[in-house]
Amino acid sequence: MEEKTIQIAGSITVDELATALGLSVTELIGTLFKNGIVATINQRLDYETASIIIDELGLENVKLERKNTSTQTSDFHRELSDKAVTRPPVVAVMGHVDHGKTTLLDTLLHKKTVEAEAGGITQHISAYQLKHDDRIITFLDTPGHEAFAAIRQHGAMLTDIVVIVVAADDGVKPQTVEAINFAKSANAKIIVAINKIDREGADIDRTKADLSQHGLQPEEWGGDITMVPISAKMNQNLDKLLDMILLTADIEELKADVDIPAEGLVIESHMETGKGSVVNLLVTGGELKTGEFIVAGSTYAKIRTMLDWKGKPKGKATPSTPVTITGFKELPNFGDRFIEVKDEKTARKMALLNAQAAANESASANVTSSDLLRMMNVADNSKTFNVIVKGDVLGSVTSVVDSLKMIDTKGEVTLNIVSTGVGDINENDVYMAAGGNTVIYGFNVSVPINISKMAARDGVPIRTYRVIYELLDDAKHEMENLLDAEIIEEDKGEMKVLGVFRTEKTSIIAGGEVLKGDVKPEFLVRVVRGKEYLGEAEVTSVQKEKIDVKELTAGETGGLALKTTSKIDLQIGDRLKFFTRESKKRTL
Ligand code: GDP
Repeated sequence: MEEKTIQIAGSITVDELATALGLSVTELIGTLFKNGIVATINQRLDYETASIIIDELGLENVKLERKNTSTQTSDFHRELSDKAVTRPPVVAVMGHVDHGKTTLLDTLLHKKTVEAEAGGITQHISAYQLKHDDRIITFLDTPGHEAFAAIRQHGAMLTDIVVIVVAADDGVKPQTVEAINFAKSANAKIIVAINKIDREGADIDRTKADLSQHGLQPEEWGGDITMVPISAKMNQNLDKLLDMILLTADIEELKADVDIPAEGLVIESHMETGKGSVVNLLVTGGELKTGEFIVAGSTYAKIRTMLDWKGKPKGKATPSTPVTITGFKELPNFGDRFIEVKDEKTARKMALLNAQAAANESASANVTSSDLLRMMNVADNSKTFNVIVKGDVLGSVTSVVDSLKMIDTKGEVTLNIVSTGVGDINENDVYMAAGGNTVIYGFNVSVPINISKMAARDGVPIRTYRVIYELLDDAKHEMENLLDAEIIEEDKGEMKVLGVFRTEKTSIIAGGEVLKGDVKPEFLVRVVRGKEYLGEAEVTSVQKEKIDVKELTAGETGGLALKTTSKIDLQIGDRLKFFTRESKKRTL
């Protein structure tokens, strides 16, 4: 099947999505409806909702992609000028829990920084820098994978290299796969650190084989992924890992411009008493200095203080450098991009524009994935009566809705008012009703001929009334139809089996004596042996002395033909208990 990519900038309308998927709007609205979302043709769906729906539809060939529209990120991946300079690689360490990510970072930090920084690191940091062969490598503190997703969502490719840590005694695990997928989707280079090689159960080759099963082919087997066996705990081969990181950085020719306004990403932010907002940034371009103005999302800062990752004051931060700054008016969000602007006036204006753009975007997505998930959790809604109410004036709509709500179903049927409105029944009403069991009620309004045709085609019932009682009667009737019927059983008689002439899969011929009551064709039978229940059957004919009769009564003996749904091994002495069953429609 042909692969299809749909780009979503913030949100997409039902109409646009249907067109992109090659579905009819009615079909799409139907699927949304099945998932508890009542949407109109012009309703906007957010990215997550759209992807859940595509999943529901089983469209495996369709890929969704976020498209960034905000002015914030559009120029983020600027073309580098020929003045661009080499910058340190930004590395993230990822992998399955307990495979040794923390140990690796700890050992690296201890080894490379302990001399310089007696007393160790106490503050919470989100990035570190190490020196290896006199070159700097920036490591990001392993954020949760969710955090990575947030960064990706902002369209920024923060990491150049992902080091995937895999324990050699455990192999590829779910979070390893996640890490692989993340690295691929972020377009980052992958280096695998096969960890815990000091362990007894460590098997490097098996781990490599495991990894190649998941699409990572080791270089030594002809693939393109560097795999370095290490022991993070015993500090074995870590220099080799760092060498490989630098080699990869060289091949990638990682560069950045420095003579542009500073820019980068917010990688952590929190409030601290006495300092106000404390924000960690990773500079990706330009040079950031104290006293400068920067904007991030809907907030801005005049940089009051700037510290390096070890907490030492820093006057100037170049690309790939993490810094901690104070001065933000309000906390920016993790993953927000920041950019330097020339003065406070510009900063304030840009922050305001960003705030408005964000508000518009979220307001325009009026079906969000959280709605969808909430709705999906609503249990069986087969007993929900969905209605759309249209009326000539607002007052009539309100009184119809209020009266509908008064219909008492003892909690058995839920009334769901899908939408209400003033005016004639229109196309949108039919679209909305199309997916589910929805009745459109019109009160003192009319139905244009094209609309009634459309409704007939889509099987949408439209009922118009001029008298409110009639409308309510109809609704009540509809709700009664949703009630479970009442089952009424009545005992009729009992027979003792004296002879079994034939038992087949779905039929039995037997004879016996009626102990009480009577037996007639079409009665139902429960077959019991002592206290054991053997099954249910239906009497198809009754005979007395081999002649069909209408009934056998107490004291008489005769023969019966029974119809069963599964084989019953009837035996002499079994009892047949006759009864009738009726289902009665219930009323409100
Ligand atoms: P994380 O969850 O990936 O951060 O894993 P940790 O770094 O917390 O490591 C989990 C456990 O594995 C700890 O008990 C570590 O001491 C141990 N560990 C990590 N690396 C090695 C290693 O190279 N060799 C051995 N033997 N144990 C290790």
